[in-house]
Amino acid sequence: MHRPHFRRTKIIITLGPASESESALERLIQAGADVVRLNMAHAKHEWVRTVIRRVRAVSARLNKEVSIMMDIKGPEIRTGDVAVPYELKVGELFDFLARPQPDRPASEVRSVSVNYADIVKDVAVGDTVLVDSGLIRLKVLEKDADHLRCQVLVPGRLGSRRHINLPGVRVNLPSFTEKDRADTLVGIEEGIDYVALSFVREGRDIDQLVSFLQEHRSRARVIAKIEDQQAIANLDEIVRASHGLMVARGDLGIECPFEELPILQRRAVQTCLAHGRPVIIATHMLETMIENPVPTRAEITDIANAVFEEADCIMLSGETTIGKYPVESVQVFDKVARRMEQVEAAGYASKLSLASDKLKVLRSAVVMADQLLAAGIVVFTRQGFMAQGLAALRPRHSPIFAITNNLETQRQLALLRSVDPLFLTFSSQPEETVLSTLKLLKDTGRVEAGAKLVIVSDILASNNQLVDSIQLRTVG
Ligand code: PEP
Repeated sequence: MHRPHFRRTKIIITLGPASESESALERLIQAGADVVRLNMAHAKHEWVRTVIRRVRAVSARLNKEVSIMMDIKGPEIRTGDVAVPYELKVGELFDFLARPQPDRPASEVRSVSVNYADIVKDVAVGDTVLVDSGLIRLKVLEKDADHLRCQVLVPGRLGSRRHINLPGVRVNLPSFTEKDRADTLVGIEEGIDYVALSFVREGRDIDQLVSFLQEHRSRARVIAKIEDQQAIANLDEIVRASHGLMVARGDLGIECPFEELPILQRRAVQTCLAHGRPVIIATHMLETMIENPVPTRAEITDIANAVFEEADCIMLSGETTIGKYPVESVQVFDKVARRMEQVEAAGYASKLSLASDKLKVLRSAVVMADQLLAAGIVVFTRQGFMAQGLAALRPRHSPIFAITNNLETQRQLALLRSVDPLFLTFSSQPEETVLSTLKLLKDTGRVEAGAKLVIVSDILASNNQLVDSIQLRTVG
């Protein structure tokens, strides 16, 4: 089978013990990682600083700039510590305490504290409490100001500091917590490219983070992680408010009935593509490769489905943090994506509203490139907006060579579908910049002599006015 020279779908790896060393990073980036994610649920600040600098150093050495995404925890409810794990049994009564109660009188009902006192206000009798990725299921029988009394429906082992999900419950925790602020500040200092906010519930949650970044003069862009029913209800406003979306299927599959998950994924992708926002499909894509060197057939098909939907990114979590086969996992993503991209895709971008004249011009460039089977669309972009517009239009055939004189832009663009970002110092003479670009593309093996390129650029018209132009050039 012919291996296409170019992969449209971008690959996100999550850093952890299996991937954080310099040599592992080198192999992962060479295998095709485009974006590195730092999961702040488990990260210390010193570690964050060390690994960000390491990623930058390895990228520079390999001459492949990757994006760095800091994934902040958002509002999260966890159980407290237990001296020894409890084996919860079906039918057993169990209490969640609104705060630690060291003086609680001995009782037949076992209990654990939670880190959120208002859980007793937010949760109603009859609601479901899920613990540890939904493995343990309980039903609330009664409550008072101090505790929720539940009955165990699905049993399991309850250890310390386990994640709690409350499906369908509007939790009144702040969206952007003190911990998130402290984490984000470290990220800003180290020059992260994206911040992914967990458990986004409405557009305002994103606005808050965007303002925080602006106040601290960061250009980092914001990804909304949709993980619960409220986010689904407010999907449209969340997509509008953010720079991109992550379909966080781990929590989403707990907070919503699991049979809804494929429908929700598709809706999220369609909404993003209709608004021209990048979208990431995350979690359990190659879960069995944490232990095994080859994927299951179902996993291959799940990856292929995300590629068919034309998602911007597919993401690895445990596979690259603690897995035995991190590089092989990236290789599987790479192989399946390249193959699937040769097949006709879903075409959801046809719903993109061409709200501005700029987008209409870009659309013409994409139509032209599709018709000509151009070897590439070249766009000159300082802040990345033109490249983002082209990516949103989902060209069928051509890669988008995004030429920028800004390193931050180059790194941010690594996350976008079909975009191949390249750094170039712009000349004051536009024609010189075009010629340097053609040389760069040729010297790096991206195009050959005779290749047709569609070029989107500004040209200087009379009265020193800049006008958009689309040109067709043949590489000399
Ligand atoms: C998820 O729930 O799918 C997810 C990506 O979030 P996290 O790994 O941060 O829990």
